[in-house]
Amino acid sequence: MADTRTLTEPGRQTEIFGTFDVVVLGGGPAGLAAAAAAGRAGASILLVERYGFLGGMGTAAGVTNFCGLHANRFGAIGQVVHGIADDLLARMKALGGLKEPHRVFGKIDAQAYDTAAYKIAADALLLASGVKILFHALGAGVVMASPRDISALLIETKSGRRAVFGRVFIDASGDGDLAAWAGAPFEIGGEMGAVMYPSTMFRINDVERDAARNQAWIGFPPLMAAAEQRTGRRFPRKTPIIRPQNHEIEWRVNLTQVANPDGTAVNGVDAMQLSDGEIEGRRQIGEAFSLLKDAVPAFTNSYIVDIPPQIGIRETRRVLGDYVLSEDDVLGCASFHDTIGVNSWPIEDHKAGDIQFRWPDIPGSRGFNHLPYRMLLPLGLDNLLVVGRCASMTHGGQSAARVSGACFVMGEAAGTAAAIVATGKSTTRQIDVPALQNKLTAQGVYLGTDM
Ligand SMILES: Cc1cc2nc3c(=O)[nH]c(=O)nc-3n(C[C@H](O)[C@H](O)[C@H](O)COP(=O)(O)OP(=O)(O)OC[C@H]3O[C@@H](n4cnc5c(N)ncnc54)[C@H](O)[C@@H]3O)c2cc1C
Repeated sequence: MADTRTLTEPGRQTEIFGTFDVVVLGGGPAGLAAAAAAGRAGASILLVERYGFLGGMGTAAGVTNFCGLHANRFGAIGQVVHGIADDLLARMKALGGLKEPHRVFGKIDAQAYDTAAYKIAADALLLASGVKILFHALGAGVVMASPRDISALLIETKSGRRAVFGRVFIDASGDGDLAAWAGAPFEIGGEMGAVMYPSTMFRINDVERDAARNQAWIGFPPLMAAAEQRTGRRFPRKTPIIRPQNHEIEWRVNLTQVANPDGTAVNGVDAMQLSDGEIEGRRQIGEAFSLLKDAVPAFTNSYIVDIPPQIGIRETRRVLGDYVLSEDDVLGCASFHDTIGVNSWPIEDHKAGDIQFRWPDIPGSRGFNHLPYRMLLPLGLDNLLVVGRCASMTHGGQSAARVSGACFVMGEAAGTAAAIVATGKSTTRQIDVPALQNKLTAQGVYLGTDM
């Protein structure tokens, strides 16, 4: 039974870490793009990240694969997310850590990468963009200047608690932490409050690559079914993704589905569920890996080279903004006058035991929807932008536009907008959107207005 008592803490004096034009909480794809964009636009900028590296779920949860960089436009597959993403990809490629794109379901491309390359490239990108980075700092709360304006972000660090003042704040925490502390309304989950199931990723090394190519991706589900019959074991997720990395002796494995004892999805903003989920994810990996070794000859000599620092969280808070991107918008390839770039990934909903994909008409459509600037504007707040997987989307919309490509797009737009607001007189809502769009286009961003 949870203890419901509370404790009143003594008042305290908090040291001020600094004052910045723009403060970004979180260094995932959305946060790093936001910080780089604001830095390039000339704003003084601090990025606060709880880990000692950038990349968010891409590194911390071992995702190791970019989705949403490419679109299928009337049958022609090509990259549609550019701008800061191009710079990051070029740096990762130079480090030998970026694989050529691979085709998914014959419909779209995705691109695998190494986490080490991502971390090194992202550090270099941000430093070259004039961003100050504070690693190992956990955002812990906010101080409000008024009900609509944040004045400071409170952080916990090894040096103690600190306050960071900013003119504009960007919530790129993935969980909408900053927005929630500031009082923005949010939703968790879709119908019945169910969020998408998390997965703990792992990578294996010393795979016989030629043999594995034929067996792993297509051949594994029947092997799992046979093993279930033989052993009585149950695999919580029946649709694995087992794919080679750039160096094909190493493969990533995405086949866990982490639930609470009652079968519901682990909630990434519930401390105890999150903790238990880490243990359950690793338990599932142990079982799945022993099956891989036993049943797939190409994996006989393989070993687990990495279980990433944390369970992979797909969905927690979705902060409600001036526009809420929906599943219909994704499937209908919606257009918006305030487009800041595009999402080209389909609906990818992680249900109990399964993943459900729903696609726009491919190849009969342009294969992407616009992302409107309004989805970054949380209701009731004037100096906060919310980007990435916690931006304003329905459960269905988020199951598409949460992937890396759309996160880079939202981040670059928010960082560019924040710099305009911080160095001018407008609020985030009053900004001249066509001027923002012109800046984004000049930065190489594809707004998707040509078709
Ligand atoms: C298992 C799994 C597989 C996936 N597969 C793919 C795939 O193949 N391709 C793809 O493109 N996408 C994939 N995704 C989705 C994608 O990785 C995420 O949706 C994307 O990383 C979200 O980016 P973000 O920047 O919004 O948030 P995140 O990546 O979650 O980054 C948030 C950052 O904020 C930091 N942070 C959070 N709270 C605080 C705080 N209070 N204080 C300080 N720092 C904080 C975190 O440490 C993190 O670095 C997958 C996701 C999962 C979980």
